[in-house]
Amino acid sequence: MSFLPELTIAAALDGLAARSFSAVELTTAHIAAIAALDGELNAFITQTPELALEMAKSADAARANGTAGPLSGIPLAIKDLFCTEGVRTTAAAKILEPFVPRYESTVTAQLKAAGAVFLGKANLDEFAMGSSNMTSAFGAVTNPWQREGSDAKLVPGGSSGGSAAAVASRMAMGATGTDTGGSIRQPASFTGITGIKPTYGRCSRYGIVAFASSLDQAGPMARSVEDCAVLLQAMSGFDARDSTSAERVVPDFRSAVRRGVKGLRIGVPAEYRMDGLSPEIDALWTRGISWLKAQGAEIIDVSLPHTKYGLPVYYIVAPAEASSNLARYDGVRFGARVDGEDLIDMYEKTRAAGFGAEVKRRIMIGTYVLSAGYYDAYYLKAQKVRALILQDFTQAFAKVDVLLTPTAPSAAFGQGEKMDDPVTMYLNDVFTVPASLAGVPAMSVPAGLDRQGLPLGLQIIGRHFDEETVFAVGAALEQAAGFSALPAIRARETV
Ligand code: GLN
Repeated sequence: MSFLPELTIAAALDGLAARSFSAVELTTAHIAAIAALDGELNAFITQTPELALEMAKSADAARANGTAGPLSGIPLAIKDLFCTEGVRTTAAAKILEPFVPRYESTVTAQLKAAGAVFLGKANLDEFAMGSSNMTSAFGAVTNPWQREGSDAKLVPGGSSGGSAAAVASRMAMGATGTDTGGSIRQPASFTGITGIKPTYGRCSRYGIVAFASSLDQAGPMARSVEDCAVLLQAMSGFDARDSTSAERVVPDFRSAVRRGVKGLRIGVPAEYRMDGLSPEIDALWTRGISWLKAQGAEIIDVSLPHTKYGLPVYYIVAPAEASSNLARYDGVRFGARVDGEDLIDMYEKTRAAGFGAEVKRRIMIGTYVLSAGYYDAYYLKAQKVRALILQDFTQAFAKVDVLLTPTAPSAAFGQGEKMDDPVTMYLNDVFTVPASLAGVPAMSVPAGLDRQGLPLGLQIIGRHFDEETVFAVGAALEQAAGFSALPAIRARETV
């Protein structure tokens, strides 16, 4: 029998169906991996091994009586931004440390209904604000990858850094992430795994702790394109409890993986070739283009002229929505409270103690750009430029089927690096925020290693609700890249 945590989800589903092993065995192997590794990686805020074993037993029972779901017995990590009934949900924030939801998010409910097993709640940047997982109130996550010849601790990216580290280190077969401006794609790139942010509206936001509601999207992270397709299938669909949920049929994503790229038109946006882009990432991008060309795709140069406004627009819109969404954490209804002399004093003390520095910074920026006198100059203006960014994509997609770009401007960096100036950290998101602002689907696929042996991802951006083509192109890149490198810290067979 192969070492179970090494399997892809697709292979594990075959193995379970063939009764080569049980869901309890598969889950037990992952619980052992977490016990061995998570002290070092800190990818989980809350581990739920007993619950996982119960879910695995039900999955085995379902398989025995012919009622197994499409994910029956597959152990997953759940980003701790998804409310899980009866299981603490913190958003990696001190203010939510004691919060145990009485309801389940739609995405996790659908995963449960599909038979998935939940190993625990994955660490993240506080309220999903960040690109390094350094802002978690529950401590930093360590990237399972290390530079060659160095054991310096690197960040896994963020905000879905715990999900990414858990999947890359083989503590989980897949994970849920959320992506507001890149939080699935950038950590996927930093940890050598695959992650897709679907079209805005594809997955319900019901029960996901809100950051910036017009941008937040759930999506899967896994070790193959096909595994992401299998997970996204179960996560997607209309939900009346989310007013922006799309009433769309969910296509068969898994079969799209095998479509190939022959005849597809791949756009290469000139504006993503930015000053100072590392030559290694530039070279990888060029290689990606030639791989697709070799498989029969047509390469077309396109322009997304408003790309340079992506970051400034994002860092107005996202904090504005965050400041409004986070107003609910006042010590009355959710989570922790610090008592004060009167009601206002209690609010102030609770919020001062309950939020970290990055979250406070965003609340202040957001409040400022929404305030009387500045609303038109910042927020309204940003919304207008956001419309132009969307228009760029619409025009490009009249000529091409997908866009190919790098996912992030660098490989994983060291813990503590890029921390002195918040703007340096925000630059991580330069390639991911435009697709978020436009609401289009985008996926990161591991495509190679840098000179120091760290993974780098390429990003495929598609048309609204055309995840199928994104999957097809992702699979073609995956096949050509043949990415097989392994992180230094990972579950290993003990003999
Ligand atoms: N890094 C971006 C930010 O800090 C994106 C975060 C996200 O997608 N949740 O806002």
